[in-house]
Amino acid sequence: MLSPLAAGIYGGLGAAAGLGLAAGGCAYAAYWPGSRIFGRALIAPRRPGELALTFDDGPNPAFTPRLLDALASHDVRATFFMVGSHAQAEPELVRRIVAEGHLIGNHSWSHANLALASAGRVGEELARTSQTLEQIAGVPVRLFRPPFGARRPAVLRIARELGLEPVLWNAMTSDWKEPSADAIVERLTRTIDRLERRGWAANIVLHDGSHLDRSAEREPSVAAAGELVGRYKGTHRFVTLDAWG
Ligand SMILES: [Zn+2]
Repeated sequence: MLSPLAAGIYGGLGAAAGLGLAAGGCAYAAYWPGSRIFGRALIAPRRPGELALTFDDGPNPAFTPRLLDALASHDVRATFFMVGSHAQAEPELVRRIVAEGHLIGNHSWSHANLALASAGRVGEELARTSQTLEQIAGVPVRLFRPPFGARRPAVLRIARELGLEPVLWNAMTSDWKEPSADAIVERLTRTIDRLERRGWAANIVLHDGSHLDRSAEREPSVAAAGELVGRYKGTHRFVTLDAWG
């Protein structure tokens, strides 16, 4: 049985998930973050006023350090879902992220679309990433966000067998291709405020890296993170995802 809190967490997106049905059956089940058809994942609890900043596809030697500086200046902690191969290339940066109080999670080794990968490949992608992160950082890795949000029942089952809790999101915009930090902030703010009116916390995704380029340009995303913190810091509580686990 799920506790009422856990039911809220896993129920997650509620009415907003219905919008995704337009995407159609299987694609909806495999990719839409609120879909539970292919199994449950952590999204957000019914705790309006709590915000989790999460950053995917790093660590990025060109932009993650600036993001860390910004978060430290506001005394805010976030959750970083790292690509295993990027982490292996930047061990000092991984250690800095952990040393500054942030939480790290598994985002697969190569950012493969795991909905299309064999069970053996899924296991390798996840296990290698967790082992590498744990060796580098010296902390256990408990969370997994599927690349592209792509999953199927076997992906979530394999993740759980490896001790990883699948995590999705309920606040994202296309920050990776958006040149304007203001546009990113405006869209995320609308989503965060709408979630709050409906009684939900926000699990916000931004990208400090790219699976295609380890040093990708991420100025708008980093600037947007700083602006969001500035906007909500006085009225909301920023948490890492283990606060909801
Ligand atoms: Zn990703």
